[in-house]
Amino acid sequence: MKIAIIGTGYVGLVTGVSLALLGHKVICVGRNKNKIQKINEGRAPFYEPGLDKLLKKTILEKSLQATDDFRKALLNADIIIIAVGTPTIEGNIDLSAIKIAARQIGEELKHNKKYQVVVVKSTVVPTTTQKIIKPILEEYSGKKIGTFGLCMSPEFLREGNAVEDATNPDRIVIGQFDKRSGQQFAKVYNKVSCPKVIVNLETAEITKYTANSLLATLISFSNEIARVCEKTKGVDVLDVWRGVHLDSRLSPRINNKIITPGIISYLFSGCGYGGSCFPKDTKALAAYAKKIGVKTELINSVIDINQNQPKRMIAILKKTLGNIKNRKISILGLTFKSNSDDLRESPAITIIKLLLEEGARVFCHDPIIIDKNDKEELKGLPIILVKNIEDALRDAHGAFLVTAWEEYKKLAPDIFRKYMKNPIVIDGRRIYSKEIFRQSGITYEGIGLGEAL
Ligand code: NAD
Repeated sequence: MKIAIIGTGYVGLVTGVSLALLGHKVICVGRNKNKIQKINEGRAPFYEPGLDKLLKKTILEKSLQATDDFRKALLNADIIIIAVGTPTIEGNIDLSAIKIAARQIGEELKHNKKYQVVVVKSTVVPTTTQKIIKPILEEYSGKKIGTFGLCMSPEFLREGNAVEDATNPDRIVIGQFDKRSGQQFAKVYNKVSCPKVIVNLETAEITKYTANSLLATLISFSNEIARVCEKTKGVDVLDVWRGVHLDSRLSPRINNKIITPGIISYLFSGCGYGGSCFPKDTKALAAYAKKIGVKTELINSVIDINQNQPKRMIAILKKTLGNIKNRKISILGLTFKSNSDDLRESPAITIIKLLLEEGARVFCHDPIIIDKNDKEELKGLPIILVKNIEDALRDAHGAFLVTAWEEYKKLAPDIFRKYMKNPIVIDGRRIYSKEIFRQSGITYEGIGLGEAL
């Protein structure tokens, strides 16, 4: 099939590559000429493991190309997928980019003779596709829905694992305006054997928020438990989770082997969730619910716990170090998770801002973030971004482990002892052994670690 995708960000490009690999002819539509050129040269404009290789393959095979020419991309498309950003502004979803994209699509539908299905893949609050996108498409095309189709199909890929998630999805949710729209869109996935959930537009929209809010809830629950442990002498939240995870309903046994399902990774305490989805989607769901008269007390608490979690890191440091004014503090890890270059809503950014407010000198390291000027979130922050871990740690009074990159997991206590004055390590992801670090003379503290008895 011929597929046009509006948006060349994480979702647009990864979806484009995965659909091209399924045998479709894909054109990704972007706005930035440099980015488009890069994609057409087989280089992804952001870091995602495995993406460059597959992008190159699809470009060479001519199954994928990028353009800024809307008309060319949409003219013969069977399916037009919208994958533009839907951030939040003051807690509410910002639909400005998707409204513009819908208008641009409508203007093209007007000229096109064939039956085309528009698919909303961006995350949007319930009723957006029906009440906002559909009227815009009808107005600008001058056509009634039915002469074109409409679906809402949320994306469940995880950054850092996006290529695998998109090429090998666990489920595909298709919200259809009518049967004809759904049937044409479902053909895109004929070769994919995973379950397909066919629902109406609103159900598809709310499914995405439910999935993300569930995972965010598990994380905030885990962080609330960590706070209880921190105030209870002799308790380490890691031991608590070991005891909880082994419940066979969480970790089933198959042939006497314990299986660790992916959900377990959300039942760990840390310095909070970030990224382009959980923070904005929980807030957008709460705002939507409020608008329709539903109180979301649980989701509100999930958001609140998460926003306060970076403050816990500062509190732990101050308890150990005292005044942090003019002290050198190093941050290991800036991205919101490992294997991604995404800094959107990363806990590291909040931690840095809190440290700067207290007058600390902040030295940062991240394996993938090399230039401060490449990232909007870092521009204007008076931090020093260094290229190697040693420079971040040298003469530092305290070090925060914020992102669980493999490179950091391998660090032995020696490197902290060698470069820091009286090494204090605050482990925001609990990746280090408390025993080994403490025995080697490091003041080791972390999320969920109560005082010794
Ligand atoms: P992104 O910001 O990385 O990419 C969006 C892209 O759309 C940008 O490159 C932007 O320039 C482009 N764009 C905006 N308006 C355009 C237009 N009119 N024409 C052409 N291009 C246009 O965003 P993303 O992370 O890919 O997310 C896209 C959507 O998917 C969001 O709604 C998000 O919530 C959802 N989503 C994201 C993820 C994720 O992990 N990133 C996962 C699932 C769902």
